[in-house]
Amino acid sequence: MTSSRSARLETIAVHGGMDGLIEAGLHVPSIDFSTTNPLSDIEGGGDSYEHLTGGGAPREGQSSVYQRLWNPGIARFEESLAALEGTDGAVSFSSGMAALAAAIIATVSAGKPHIIGLRPAYGGTDHLLSTGLLGSKVTWTDIDGVAAAITSETGLIVAESPANPTLELIDISALVAAARDIPILVDNTFATPVLQRPADHGAAMVLHSATKYLGGHGDVMGGVIAATEEWVARLRQVRVITGALLHPMAGYLLHRGLRTLPVRIYAQQATAREIASRVVEHPALAKVIYPGLPGQDPMGLLGRQMDGPGAIVAFELAGGYEAAAAFTHACKLLTHAVSLGGVDTLVQHPASLTHRPVEPSARPGAGVVRISVGLEHVEDLLADITQALDAAKGVVTKSMTGTDLLSV
Ligand SMILES: *Cc1c(COP(=O)(O)O)cnc(C)c1O
Repeated sequence: MTSSRSARLETIAVHGGMDGLIEAGLHVPSIDFSTTNPLSDIEGGGDSYEHLTGGGAPREGQSSVYQRLWNPGIARFEESLAALEGTDGAVSFSSGMAALAAAIIATVSAGKPHIIGLRPAYGGTDHLLSTGLLGSKVTWTDIDGVAAAITSETGLIVAESPANPTLELIDISALVAAARDIPILVDNTFATPVLQRPADHGAAMVLHSATKYLGGHGDVMGGVIAATEEWVARLRQVRVITGALLHPMAGYLLHRGLRTLPVRIYAQQATAREIASRVVEHPALAKVIYPGLPGQDPMGLLGRQMDGPGAIVAFELAGGYEAAAAFTHACKLLTHAVSLGGVDTLVQHPASLTHRPVEPSARPGAGVVRISVGLEHVEDLLADITQALDAAKGVVTKSMTGTDLLSV
C-alpha cells in the first residue's frame, strides 16, 4: 500500500506506514518504548550496530540495538511522510530546527561549508544560518542571485515556499535549474505535501516542522526531512551520532496526524480563502497577503507547483506596529500565540516574535500579523477578526516605526 505511488494522496495519508498490521492482528501500530533491544549474539549485534550507525535501516531479522539507532514506530511515520512527498525515504528529528541542523551538519561535514539561503525564511532558519553556529557560511540572496552565489564550497541551497510569514512563493523548478548540481532543501512546512511536493520539481530534501500541520493539534514537536536515498542515509547517520530524535510517542502522534492531514488542509484552506477575500476591503488593512487573492501569484505557481494557496493569511495593518498590537490584543476567539498549523486559529506578530532574530532590513514589516487559520466555523472567525480590525482602525503608529522600535 505505502509504496504504491498509484494510490491517491488521501489514501496514502490514511494507509501509509501501516504495513504488516493485519498479519500482527493489529488495527493501529503499537508504540515501542524500548530504549534497548536484545541481541542475538555478539557478532550479530556488532553487525547490526555497524550497519545502523552507518545510516542503514535494519535488515530482516536483525536487532535494532538501541532506540537512538532505530525505532519501528518512528520508521512508520517516516515511511508515510516519504510516500506523501514522493521521496525515497524520510528522517525525523526532535524539532524542525533539529532537522535543519542535521542537514547543515551533513553538508558542512562533507567539506562544503557554503550555504546559499533564500530570504524570506522562518526566523529560526535565518538565525541558524546567519550565526554560522554549525560551521556553515551563508550567502543570502533571492532566486536571481543564486547562480552568481555558487562557489566551489557551496554544498546546499535552502529555500522556503510559501515563506514564513509573508507567503512569498518560489518557483522550485526555476531554482533547481539555477542551482545546477547543488542540492536544494525546500522547507514545505506551510504547504505540506497535500498542496506541494517539492521533490517532484527536483528538490533533494523537503523539510517540515512537523510541530505544525503534520501533528496538527499543537501538542507534539518534531521535524522531518523527506529526501533522496543518499540524503536519507546521511541524515540518519547525523541523527544516530548527534541524537536529536523523536520520542516514540511523538512519532506515533505525528503518524496519526498524517491520516487527517488532507482533510484538515482542505477545510482550513477553504476557510482561509474566504477570510482573505471577505476582509480585503477593511479600512484597517493596508494589505491582505494570501497567494489565492488576485495578483498575488505573479508566476502562476498555483496549479503548476501548488494545488492550493494554503491556510495561512497575513495582514498588513495600515496603522503599523501600534495597529498590529491593537489587533492582536482585541482578538478573542483567535489565540495570540506563535506556531501554526493546528486545529485552532492562532495570530502572532512575526517582527517581535518568530522573526525577531532576523536582521532588521530583512525582517517582516512592523504592521504585519500572521494568522494560522484553524477548523472553527468561518463566520465565527470572521466575526472575531472583523471586531479586532475595527478596534485597530484609526490606530496609527506615531513616533518611531515598529521596525525601529525593535532594532533598538
Ligand atoms: C516552526 C517552523 C520551523 C521550525 O520548526 P520547530 O519545530 O519549531 O523547530 C521551520 N520552518 C518553518 C517554516 C516553521 O514554521
